[in-house]
Amino acid sequence: MTVLMDEKLIFEIDKEGREGYSIPHSVSENISAESVLKDLYRKEEIKALPEVSEVDVVRHFTRLSTYNYAVDYGLYPLGSCTMKYNPKINEYVSRLEGLAFIHPLSDEDNIQGALEILYRLGEALKAITGMDGVTLQPSAGAQGEFTGMQLIRAYLNDRNDSRKVVLIPDSAHGTNPASAHFAGYSIEEIKSGSDGCVDLEYLRNRMNKEVAAIMLTVPNTLGIFEKNIKEICDVVHSKGGLVYIDGANLNALMGKTKPGNWGADVMHINLHKTFSTPHGGGGPGAGPVVCKSALMPFLPKPTIIKENNKFKLNWDVPKSIGKVHAFYGNFLVCLRALCYIESMGAEGLKEATERAVLNANYLRKKLEEVLDLPYKGKTLHEVIFSDKNLPNGVTTMDLAKRLIDFGFHPPTVYFPLIVYGAIMIEPTESEPKEELDRFVEAIKAIVKEAEENPEFVKNAPHKAYRKRLDEVSAARNPKINFFS
Ligand SMILES: *Cc1c(COP(=O)(O)O)cnc(C)c1O
Repeated sequence: MTVLMDEKLIFEIDKEGREGYSIPHSVSENISAESVLKDLYRKEEIKALPEVSEVDVVRHFTRLSTYNYAVDYGLYPLGSCTMKYNPKINEYVSRLEGLAFIHPLSDEDNIQGALEILYRLGEALKAITGMDGVTLQPSAGAQGEFTGMQLIRAYLNDRNDSRKVVLIPDSAHGTNPASAHFAGYSIEEIKSGSDGCVDLEYLRNRMNKEVAAIMLTVPNTLGIFEKNIKEICDVVHSKGGLVYIDGANLNALMGKTKPGNWGADVMHINLHKTFSTPHGGGGPGAGPVVCKSALMPFLPKPTIIKENNKFKLNWDVPKSIGKVHAFYGNFLVCLRALCYIESMGAEGLKEATERAVLNANYLRKKLEEVLDLPYKGKTLHEVIFSDKNLPNGVTTMDLAKRLIDFGFHPPTVYFPLIVYGAIMIEPTESEPKEELDRFVEAIKAIVKEAEENPEFVKNAPHKAYRKRLDEVSAARNPKINFFS
């Protein structure tokens, strides 16, 4: 039940003089908070913070939480995001006192268990991907990409090789070019063929000694596996370039094939996608990077090693690119991922992949009846439609907004860019058939409405707390400070 339909901003419920917590005054005359805290008292007043009581704060955020949509609430079909169910045992384990409250500066001898957890996760990720080295430090996929591209640069610099170009297909995830650019490379886009894959002939002609690396999202953002992956790796290697694999969507591959066997040199993995840790509203995630042995000397330090049955933080990594995260990464996220991996087991992970692919193909078959399917091949973990066949000028955005009225989180829209009006759906393995059928029925009902009453669809959502927002103004003129 929702108490208030229109919760104000916390700055709007501000009342001058209201305090979240007041330091108690001692009953004895001569001990006041001021006399104890003395110098710790602020000299100047803090401006621009809302003045609210504890109950104001708790109610404000509790009410807002009821406006939210969550994986625990229903299907969350955001393509390229792998919004799968997060098993509650992972949450239980990550709240155990001995794990949740470890001080990050604890002495190595006192945190052997925690180091073992990180070590075991690293070993598991290496085994799953067929790679030799690992760092768990990066806290997101994009930071993993940046770390991986720095590894490539450090490796090439070490060989006095000053290649400048990174090739990226137009079907790559949008973070890829940004990460390569930040790592100091110039980006060159390669066009996909009509099958959605890299054009091997084009790559063969383009590849030369200026090219540092190719960055490949596999499966790509069309949900398609690069069928010539081995040849692509061979062509790049033959001219001394390296292969970066964006493995954020390992959900389509784990247990079935290992990028290390194709010829991948570096890749990142999103624990908050494939390994079922929460995506956390801007909060912590984890984007570990795995690499082949040639790149291991450059990994961020400290690395975690096992010596004489003891786990150690190894700071002696002279060619390391340095730290990319405070301490050892997002420990509790890593812990959840290890818990997931070990509770699933090798067979369980493989089955998760198979079911994810089955669910995506089920939606492809069912929705192909009413939506345009630009790339017809069997899909992997996600399927891309477009709004080309929607009647009466109803668009992808209208369909997405109307889905909210049916109780669904909308899918990813207008991405990937190579599909005009894209609708990108990723059901994941954790959805039962009934939920997928409910989603299919909702889309079919909306397509019917688009024929019979298009204005109604164009004005959706009708049941949400907020109706259509002016997204262009929000992007062009963001008001990020309430007081400015
Ligand atoms: C999600 C995703 C990323 C970025 O990961 P973040 O954790 O959001 O930074 C990169 N590549 C692909 C293919 C993705 O799906």
